[in-house]
Amino acid sequence: MQIDNNELAILQDRLDREGFKEEAWKIKQEFLKQVRESGDHCPCREACPHHGNCFECVTIHRGHRDHLPLCMWDMVNERLAALSHMTEGSLRDYEDRKAREEAEAEGCGGCCEGCAGGCGEG
Ligand code: SF4
Repeated sequence: MQIDNNELAILQDRLDREGFKEEAWKIKQEFLKQVRESGDHCPCREACPHHGNCFECVTIHRGHRDHLPLCMWDMVNERLAALSHMTEGSLRDYEDRKAREEAEAEGCGGCCEGCAGGCGEG
């Protein structure tokens, strides 16, 4: 089952925004029913005891706030990619430059093979 960009979920969202709350609720329940019946719906391939348990996974990610659950990356990247066009695809160069500047400020010469900077060794 395809969850991302699911036609039922998109329809439910549209109906809800248009004020058709009852219809939206029914479609939402049908969408969730199909998800429950679809088996393993989690795209994450990490060996993880929380695999497919969205309650535990989301709660843990909210707790540490380091990054989002993998299933949400595509949605966020979709928005970020659109935004990054404002700087004509220079985001990667910016991140690399900032990493180099931080590493230099910490005394890293970036001399180790494959160094991303910041270790202070070498
Ligand atoms: S919230 Fe976590 S467990 Fe649920 S689908 Fe996303 S990555 Fe998998």
